Amino acid sequence: MKSSRLLLALLAFGAVTATAQEKVLNLYSARHYQTDEALYANFTRQTGLKINRIEAKEDELLERIRNEGANSPADVFLTVDAARLAKADELGLFAPVKSKLLEERIPANLRSPDWFAFSTRARVIVANKDTVKAEHVQAYEDLADPKLKGKVCSRSGSHPYNISLMAALIAHIGEARAEEWARGVVANFARTPKGGDTDQIKSVAAGECGVAVSNTYYLARLLRSEKPEDRRLMNRITIIWPNQKSFGTHINISGGGMLKTAPNKEAAVRFLEYLASDDAQRYFADGNNEWPAVPSVVVKNPALEAMGKFKADSLPVAALAKNAVAAQRIYDRAGWK
Ligand code: FE
Repeated sequence: MKSSRLLLALLAFGAVTATAQEKVLNLYSARHYQTDEALYANFTRQTGLKINRIEAKEDELLERIRNEGANSPADVFLTVDAARLAKADELGLFAPVKSKLLEERIPANLRSPDWFAFSTRARVIVANKDTVKAEHVQAYEDLADPKLKGKVCSRSGSHPYNISLMAALIAHIGEARAEEWARGVVANFARTPKGGDTDQIKSVAAGECGVAVSNTYYLARLLRSEKPEDRRLMNRITIIWPNQKSFGTHINISGGGMLKTAPNKEAAVRFLEYLASDDAQRYFADGNNEWPAVPSVVVKNPALEAMGKFKADSLPVAALAKNAVAAQRIYDRAGWK
């Protein structure tokens, strides 16, 4: 009994000293997809750096990093949504990364000095084939058209995806018109906002709602689903790329940056650069049915291909952050709960 306890103590001590000497990267990630194992194993193979992963929900991770303060072991923080990355940035959590490789590989509209996008997703309109004519909803602005009275469903106006969409609208049509739009959409609601994007898609397919907006990867997930009922519901809806004749479909990102308090800064930069490599880009984007941020990388994803090509909004995603507060105020004033 005693000796086994001593052995355990020795083993534990050994483990601690090994970690202290071993080259590691501490990753705080809001991602958890099947392909991530291969993504990280590949990095370790290439660099000899072991990855310690902490996975949790986006907002929990941000809280955790804040609470840990200067003692945080986190080197890199990966999350989704430009507004969230900007929030971390605003809180002074990121350190600027100077990397020629990242500047060359990641387009300028998909990065800031402090963080980088590694994949993109689009926010599209979904319409019920029987109750809504697709030609009536070709732009986000159309969702406020009185023609759609009682037909629009939405998740909360406080959700980062809708905040970022509103931030883009503010940039394109100005605050006054954006607010008018929000009021028009609220007047068209079929029900009080509830649920996530997948819930809106299902309600549109069921006919409870006529139209909604959704991120593309939720649609891709249903298209690729093993369950026949998921694919059947996709047959009842039309996917529309909004604003193809104006500023393009709103896109958002998933991405990350190096933390100011990172104990392993060199490893952090290597990891960020690795995420921009061809192989990593493929794993990273495809793991969640997204598009690679690096334009030269092509992913073969049947669900994304089935959705077709589109014109994306070229607004710098970092610009979304500066309208985030105004966006939330507009939703509040408009009663978009
Ligand atoms: Fe999501």
